[in-house]
This record gives sequence, C-alpha cells and structure tokens, in this order.
Amino acid sequence: MAKLILHPGKERSLLRRHPWIFAGAVERLVGRARAGDTVEVFAADERPLGRAAWSPQSQIRARMWSFDANETIDDAFFKRRVAAAVARRNGLPELQGQDGVRLLHGETDGLPGVVADRYGDTLVLQLTAVGADRWRRAIVGALLAATGCSHLYERSDADVRRLEGLQPEVGWRVGGPGEGETPALVINENGVRMHVDVVGGHKTGFYLDQRDNRWRVRALSDGRSVLNCFCYTGGFSLQALAGGASRVLSIDSSGPALATAAANLALNPQLEAARAEWREADVFSELRQLKAAGERFDLIILDPPKFAPSAAHAERAARAYKDINLQGFRLLAPGGLLMSYSCSGGISAELFRKVVADAAIDAGRSARIVEHLAAAPDHPVGLAFPEGEYLKGLLCQVD
Ligand code: SAH
Repeated sequence: MAKLILHPGKERSLLRRHPWIFAGAVERLVGRARAGDTVEVFAADERPLGRAAWSPQSQIRARMWSFDANETIDDAFFKRRVAAAVARRNGLPELQGQDGVRLLHGETDGLPGVVADRYGDTLVLQLTAVGADRWRRAIVGALLAATGCSHLYERSDADVRRLEGLQPEVGWRVGGPGEGETPALVINENGVRMHVDVVGGHKTGFYLDQRDNRWRVRALSDGRSVLNCFCYTGGFSLQALAGGASRVLSIDSSGPALATAAANLALNPQLEAARAEWREADVFSELRQLKAAGERFDLIILDPPKFAPSAAHAERAARAYKDINLQGFRLLAPGGLLMSYSCSGGISAELFRKVVADAAIDAGRSARIVEHLAAAPDHPVGLAFPEGEYLKGLLCQVD
C-alpha cells in the first residue's frame, strides 16, 4: 500500500475527523497508487492517521475511509459501514413506515462519495468519487445484504464525477424491469402516493431531503391558499391539499415535471383535485404577474434549484434568492407564511437569512422567522463535516 505523507500541521482537520485531504495538504506519496486505490495516511511526523482513497485528478486528493490505521478496507469493511448506516435509519422512529429513505449519505455515514436511497423494494445507488467507484461491487453486495431489496439501479450521473475523472455510469445492476417495460415505482410518503422515476427524475428520482418539510406544509395548510413555486412533481402541493388547503397553485417551468405532478395527484383520489392548479411558467416573471393581478396567498413555498453550486456563484445567486423572496413577501396576505429554501452549497445559512431579511424589508413587510427548517434526519450533517449540509430553510411570518 502506498503511503500518503501530509505537510506539517495538515493532520489537524483529520484529527477532528474531517474526511477530506486537499491537494495542498499532501507533501508526497511514497510508492505507487492508481486512482481509487487505498493509501495509508501519515502526518509529517509519521504518526499514522488512517486509510483513504487516492484521487489524483481531484482537488480533494484523498478521502478517508477509516481513521483507524489498522482497519483493512475490503468487502467486509463496506458490509460493516453499510449495515451500521442502515441500522441508524432503522433506529429513527420518524422513518418507520416510509417507503422512501436515504440509507447512505456519503461522508456523514463514513462512506465518502456514496449515496444510496431506498424506494420500497428498489435501491438507487449514486457513486461520486473514484474510491467509491472502485468499490462498486462490494457496496452493491453490502446494500443488498443489509436491506433484502431485489432491485438496484445505479444512477452515477452527477456532474461532480467529472472532477474525479469519472464517466457517467447508469443502469440496472440487480433486477429491474423486463425488456421494453418502464419501472412503475410508486411510494407512499405520509399517506400521499408519488411516482418516483429513478432513471430520469432529479437526483435519484425524488427529493427525499424535503420529506419532513412537506409534512410541515401539511400541518400549516388547513384553510389556507397556497402558492408552491418550483413545484417539480408536486410533493409540497399534494401535502398542502392533504392538509386541507383551500387552493394550491403550483408553478414550474418544466412541462414533464408538471405532467408527473398531475399524475401524482391522480394517484391520490382522497385529495380534492379541483383545488389544485398547475401552471407552466417562469417563477421570476409569474410572481410579478400574480402581484399585478392582485392575487394574495396565505402560504408561499419557494424551493428553487441550486442557484449557487459553489461560492464563486454566490453573488449572482444571492440576487436571484433576493428577487424571489421579495416577490414572495409582496404576495403574502396579512399573517401569511413564507417557507423559503436554499440548497446552494455556495450560500451559507447566515447569508441566506440576510438575503431573506433584506427581501422582507424591501417588500415593506414586517416579518419574523418562526422556524428554521433543515433536511430530513436520514440526511444527517456531520458535526466535523458541515459540508454535508446543503438544505437550509426559513419559515417566516408577516404581520
Ligand atoms: N420543490 C421540489 C423540488 C424543486 S427542484 C420538491 O420538493 O420536489 C427545482 C424545480 O425548479 C425543477 O422542477 C425545475 O424545473 C424548476 N425550475 C427551475 N428554474 C425555474 C424557473 N425559473 N421557473 C420555474 N421553475 C423553475
């Protein structure tokens, strides 16, 4: 095994259990290692720090598999890590009975570059780092053993793979539909049925991280008129209807997403379909048109796509967040609620709060934060690894 030696002082973040070794921290590699190989990591004073996956093309030059210098990285290692992550989910009461659960959340489950979601009997695996890619077979085997699932689709098509020198890898690895069939996957989320398209949908097919926040919307919707912006396949919209909303207007610029949203509504005959309206439009201009038309809403949800994938985009993204939040505040009825999210890695929670506060002031509304909203608990945030946190939300109320 090759040895990775760090520059003096660069062991500090590892001792705090942060799993990334950046290119600038590496003093030298002793021996040969190919991309994805396991290397032994040492501080400059030769103190052993653990074992990592070597990624020569990435600025994140290595990712720690283990902080135990004696732990062998083999099939049994992945079996242990995967089983422990699945057991953690099984121990969370709020996940009991859910069809859609994230089982592996990368670094925060000790598995850098590995995401796995379970939708009923189907697993979706996403590998985003070269070390994870190397151990595909072991990870697939460990997931099947830990869950007993009969289908596994690999959805390793995230852009970040390019930074690791990896091509997209997609396809059924276990089970899957027969020739010419499309998988008709439907999950039940807190009593609402939803189609999940693991092949063509966003992420691994669905936004599982918003599960608890959709549930929150349900609790807030009774008798309220709701505007759901960037509705995608209607997750928030359907929970709002389930919660007794008087009207739910949902906006998205994607025709296919809205078609799935309408199909999702049709899957739920218990909901009052006549109260739902789907509108294909650009949210930025539609919010202005709604204002011009004198519309008002009691609850507005803003869950836009990632405007700032990295800090380099932060300024332009902040302007976009400011704009939709400003228009949102303007459309709120007295006492109305704004539920506003950012999933941008490049926008800190502090900056997001400032942008939303500025938007309220510019809209001339007196508002307060009544709740901070985060991703569901199957998307845990590592305390030593806050990079795992991308979803941040604020629930604001105006006078
Ligand atoms: N809230 C959703 C996820 C939102 S994903 C859920 O909980 O499932 C972001 C959505 O924004 C996508 O469906 C995309 O089509 C849509 N979108 C992106 N830019 C847009 C724009 N300018 N106007 C309207 N919709 C937009």
